[in-house]
Amino acid sequence: MAFQNRYGDFERKMYKGEWKCAKCGTAITELPFNPDPSRIDQLQCRDCHRQSRATERNRY
Ligand SMILES: [Zn+2]
Repeated sequence: MAFQNRYGDFERKMYKGEWKCAKCGTAITELPFNPDPSRIDQLQCRDCHRQSRATERNRY
């Protein structure tokens, strides 16, 4: 019996480049958004981004 899940079928544009995580220094080679040149220093890898989202409250 074939199970056909269509998850992961959506398209997500990834921007490729050479950046660095501001927190752990991990190389970032692709991002789901086009990074603002003025915020290059604040880029975070997926792990750090996930952690900061979990621990920090949204401040607007
Ligand atoms: Zn990181």
